[in-house]
Amino acid sequence: MSSNATTYDTDVVIIGYGPSGVASALNLGEDGVSCIALEKDRDLYQRARAVTVNDWTMRCFQSLGLDEDLIKDMDETEALRWVRYDGTEIFGLTFPPGRYGHPTSYAIYQPLMEATLREAAKKHESVDVRYGAEVVDVTQDADGVTVSYCEQGVEGGEITKIRAKYALACDGGSSRTRTQLEIPLTGDTLGVRWVVIDAFVRRWWPNRHILTFWSDKQRPVVDIALARGNHRWEIPLNDHEQESDFATNEDVWPLLEALGVSHDDIEIHQHAFYRHHIRAADRWRDGRIFLLGDAGHMMPPWAGAGMQSGIRDAFNITWKLREVLAGRLPDEVLDTYEAERRPNVAFFTDVAINLGKIIKQELTEEEQAALAPKPGEEPQLPPLLWPPMLAAGWARGNLAPGHIEGKMVIQPKLANTRGVLAPLDDLLGRGFVLLGDNVDPTEVLTAEEKAGWDKLNARYSAVRAADQATVGEDDLVDLHGELLAWMRGFGARVIAVRPDRFVAASDISGLAVPVAGSAVASPVPAAPTDDPAPVNA
Ligand SMILES: Cc1cc2nc3c(=O)[nH]c(=O)nc-3n(C[C@H](O)[C@H](O)[C@H](O)COP(=O)(O)OP(=O)(O)OC[C@H]3O[C@@H](n4cnc5c(N)ncnc54)[C@H](O)[C@@H]3O)c2cc1C
Repeated sequence: MSSNATTYDTDVVIIGYGPSGVASALNLGEDGVSCIALEKDRDLYQRARAVTVNDWTMRCFQSLGLDEDLIKDMDETEALRWVRYDGTEIFGLTFPPGRYGHPTSYAIYQPLMEATLREAAKKHESVDVRYGAEVVDVTQDADGVTVSYCEQGVEGGEITKIRAKYALACDGGSSRTRTQLEIPLTGDTLGVRWVVIDAFVRRWWPNRHILTFWSDKQRPVVDIALARGNHRWEIPLNDHEQESDFATNEDVWPLLEALGVSHDDIEIHQHAFYRHHIRAADRWRDGRIFLLGDAGHMMPPWAGAGMQSGIRDAFNITWKLREVLAGRLPDEVLDTYEAERRPNVAFFTDVAINLGKIIKQELTEEEQAALAPKPGEEPQLPPLLWPPMLAAGWARGNLAPGHIEGKMVIQPKLANTRGVLAPLDDLLGRGFVLLGDNVDPTEVLTAEEKAGWDKLNARYSAVRAADQATVGEDDLVDLHGELLAWMRGFGARVIAVRPDRFVAASDISGLAVPVAGSAVASPVPAAPTDDPAPVNA
């Protein structure tokens, strides 16, 4: 072990091995970047907190080859509904088919999902996970970070130091790293305590599979089918109720009985209490240390986006670290982690707050009326389902609605030149790729632009229609014309796609490799008013 500035024990140290930490380790491991993950707990945390993942998150897991393993412990979610106790529906949402290669939404069981992810990380030689390792100190200098840890629960135990080039603080909402860096966690913690009840299903009841928000000022209740025969209720405690009133599983039964649930329906296996936070750290980068997941931001659960945001943080920062560590991109690119992720997290936080108003029946009459579909009008896509997009960051061009730059490329099934059919990403691999509409992208690039993308080991593929013959070895065939229609809808002939599948540049914006500040930022992730409609949908 070393502690001077010139030698390192690892490239990246990951503090905390929850969803954000393991997603970071998996990505670094997949790219052969060395990392040490330190987790204070010896065993996996068994509480099922997050309940859902969507097609963006599944696409991230697909890039690690894990989507099919994970799906075994997931159930596709068909619909959401917000209903009053008298049975009137306030708002309903049937999930449309996903455009990113996966169904739009899945119910999960978080401990099973995390177990699969941890198991998968074991195959990476460059990933070293140390359990029972509680981080007690983090310091940094111009050349690296020194992280000190001790064996959890062993008072006065030996301190081990790790020297790394960068650190990812994935140590959750009460992040010691964030506190040590004196980064304020601005926002609110709401006063209401919720009891979260997890149960095994004993028999099916009507519409159990439809995620239901029982909407009421006094006792709003979340009622969710989780994967693998689990079910969840989240119920707020009223003013006169204390946590101590619900010390045992038996004590929470009256809350469920009031909802018509009986011992014949379920067996409760755990319950816990929590409060909702609407908070974000004032900065997510401090020198060589980055805050990810709950360490950097927390939102109420109504959009099902808390855990997913941490996973997306990991998928954002890790490819940038890979490129910077390899000397292919400058350190400033790491600043775009916060520039890109913060607006997206703020967007989902707003979505969550607004959805929370429905279940708590806090809407104004105007807001309530706006939820109802207008006769004769196409229903609007609710913000929860707006396509992923960058509002700022490592891209070139205009990131506003109607522009292809900053959008996540759709993922239809394509064929390669040898006739193998697969979802787009499986044909592209994990790196940068330039796609041309019936043209080899290298024919459109200047020599300087091509040199820039060559340095990033980009691949170049012409996308041909199914009634055309392929020309180059890396050509792709757009079986149903969906990808070509999507590009043409924005007027783009060539697009440069980042490893996380966002469009970094197009022939409209200019195809030079982006530099920090080369994009025109959009105020927030915005309504997809000009997003071309899917073909064959
Ligand atoms: C009831 C409830 C419902 C939720 N529903 C959803 C949902 O539907 N969808 C969704 O996306 N999110 C949801 N969330 C949020 C989600 O669970 C969290 O956002 C997610 O778990 C955060 O992941 P993380 O890895 O950032 O942090 P955590 O899961 O908190 O993991 C942090 C890890 O760091 C470790 N650690 C902490 N300090 C140290 C230290 N000093 N040294 C070493 N290790 C340390 C901890 O032991 C832990 O393993 C919900 C949360 C709750 C409470």
